[in-house]
Amino acid sequence: MEELLEQLLEDCRPYTQQGKVATYIPELAKGDANDLGIYVLRSDGRHYQAGDYKKRFTIQSVVKPILLLLALMDNGEEYVRSRVGVEATGKPFDAINVTDQTLFSDHLNPMVNMGAIAMCTLIKGKDYEERFRRLLDLTRQLAGDQEIDLDQQVYLSEKRTGNKNRALAFLLKTYGMIEDDVEQVLDCYFKACSISVNSKDLAHIGFVLANRGKLPQTEERIFPSRYATYVNAILMTCGMYDGSGDFAVNVGVPAKSGVGGGIMAVVPTRMGIGIFSPGLDGKGNSLAGIKVLEELSKRMYLSIF
Ligand code: GLN
Repeated sequence: MEELLEQLLEDCRPYTQQGKVATYIPELAKGDANDLGIYVLRSDGRHYQAGDYKKRFTIQSVVKPILLLLALMDNGEEYVRSRVGVEATGKPFDAINVTDQTLFSDHLNPMVNMGAIAMCTLIKGKDYEERFRRLLDLTRQLAGDQEIDLDQQVYLSEKRTGNKNRALAFLLKTYGMIEDDVEQVLDCYFKACSISVNSKDLAHIGFVLANRGKLPQTEERIFPSRYATYVNAILMTCGMYDGSGDFAVNVGVPAKSGVGGGIMAVVPTRMGIGIFSPGLDGKGNSLAGIKVLEELSKRMYLSIF
């Protein structure tokens, strides 16, 4: 398996040059397009890795499933479902999910920015600082990595320039979806996106979703099995935004991408996969990362279809 991963990275390395590192968050422009790493954690406890799997990057949108999990753990499915829907948007991650001047919870999907900003209001805490702390704690617990922390530079960069997200949040406020101070909610969202992880962390988090809520090794249950069904289904239909259909056809497993270059893939009952390569395709998904997953899926029959 180790040789297979090495081989896949070698075969897919040319694709790292075809993607573009995100620049709309200025700090992300410092990413190195040559980076490519993978970590696989299997249900038999074995793990395999290759390339830049230790290198840290910001989690960006891969935090969205963790936000959703915490919202579910804090409020239960019925309440979360009444605030943020589950239908795929088929639109880019920063799209304005409002039609005909109306905003229904059904227009919001937790895997795109507008839905994720709304979810920050659902997680519990006395203030937005505490809400973020709880999200960070859950991320550390799922990843089994206490060293996971906030990347201060990316956070400040995003806070300074995140005007599209600001606009989305004010729209949510207009439609009564945010009662609190908008800037506080956004602060929690920007920090959430700026959590620094590596491919191993993403593989571990993906593994817990594949293992229906239980940690590897200890089998300690972190969340009910039903929440894995809920989150994985949404990852399948919207985890790669408007690239989710292609991804379903060519890879065929629930997954989540982020503009930091990370992809977390969940192979139900079998494995969690973490990939990192910061060159993005036009939809904001790691270009080489997707290529690696396509090949891995073919060679190991990973598609759930
Ligand atoms: N922090 C990023 C943003 O809000 C997350 C987007 C992404 O990873 N696709 O724009």
